[in-house]
Amino acid sequence: MKLEIPEYVRTLMNDLNMHGYECYVVGGAVRSMLLGLPVHDYDLTTNALPMQMKEVFKDHKTIETGLKHGTLTVLSQHHPVEITTYRKDAAYQDHRHPDAVQFTSAIEEDCARRDFTVNAFCYSDATGILDFFHGREDIEHHILRCIGDPEKRFDEDALRILRAIRFASQLDFKIEEKTKKAIFDKKDLLSYISYERIREEMKGLLQAKKCASYFDTYRSVMHVFFPEIMSIPHWDRVLAGMDRTEPDANVRMAVLLSESEDPAAILRRLKYPKQEIRLITAMIDHRHDPLTDRIELRRFLSVYSLSFDAYLNYRQALDPSFPSARVKACYEKILADNDCISIGQLQVNGADAAACGYQKEQISAILAELLNAVIEEKISNCREDLLAYMKREDH
Ligand code: ATP
Ligand code: MG
Repeated sequence: MKLEIPEYVRTLMNDLNMHGYECYVVGGAVRSMLLGLPVHDYDLTTNALPMQMKEVFKDHKTIETGLKHGTLTVLSQHHPVEITTYRKDAAYQDHRHPDAVQFTSAIEEDCARRDFTVNAFCYSDATGILDFFHGREDIEHHILRCIGDPEKRFDEDALRILRAIRFASQLDFKIEEKTKKAIFDKKDLLSYISYERIREEMKGLLQAKKCASYFDTYRSVMHVFFPEIMSIPHWDRVLAGMDRTEPDANVRMAVLLSESEDPAAILRRLKYPKQEIRLITAMIDHRHDPLTDRIELRRFLSVYSLSFDAYLNYRQALDPSFPSARVKACYEKILADNDCISIGQLQVNGADAAACGYQKEQISAILAELLNAVIEEKISNCREDLLAYMKREDH
């Protein structure tokens, strides 16, 4: 079976072959090709040692950050491609990091250290697909299965527990029984894994087309790093909401945390970037805003400046009867008509307020008052009216 490998990858494989080394496309790329899914990056594996790779690619731009683990990143026609020397993992410390990286000259050993049967394919034009662990059968039956003894594999690296759940949801595969049992039996090992890595896997899971059933089935696993998940009220409604949204990780996180006591604290613990915490908590804080008419919507837009589409997606998730299409149409009208929804759009500014006798914090207060009055159509956004309003003595 011949697979389509893009030219920028093929040329690197040829370079290694010409120098007498083996090279295969490995892992996710082959899995995706077999499933007819788009490939987002191509990882290569080779028996060339790191220094030998450097020699082969001495005329290319390379990045050496992973070199001591055997990975050289080579820029090929502007694409970064990771090439890793065949490795077998030595004993593991702390359920996450192998004690030492050992290189090997046997491709089969490199495949054996990989996590799941469907992640261990290798491909080259010369050999076709190498499949030492019967991954083809598992692909056909849509099964996610650890290579080797799942308990041992999760003992070695507990992150694989979450990777299993994430891949199963992304691929819509069933987790094989022994692998599934080991996920529950070994779940406490997740306490050894850094929150950054946990967050990345959780995000992958939240972006899968349907993720709710995985949150339901593996709730007790997530409890290890997210104990609050056990006390989320209206659990079934939350799950239904998560699957109703577009697969947007932040919107779904907002749905999940809507009724939590302190969503920001949970997100900080999971090491979410500040900007994403702001986005998620803003949606939650505004979950009850009425948005029933143009005035309400203007009021909302005057304080909410983040993605409106994400917000609508969120509201729809919380309440299937939320009139998204009507609100969206109204929003577009507000933009098209350039309705005033910010102080910057007022036809007067701070200097005008100062000229009318306002001082210091009175200035921002009167401008805010004007904005409200304009939003509520009590006054029009015309300079003369605004100046007259400011000069009145009754406020
Ligand atoms: P994705 O589409 O998410 O990138 P992928 O299969 O390429 O999927 P990566 O996380 O990019 O996954 O890892 C590349 C390959 O490295 C995997 O296919 C797997 O063979 C191996 N791998 C990655 N992480 C682990 C791990 N924790 N334990 C064992 N093998 C792993
Ligand atoms: Mg990958």
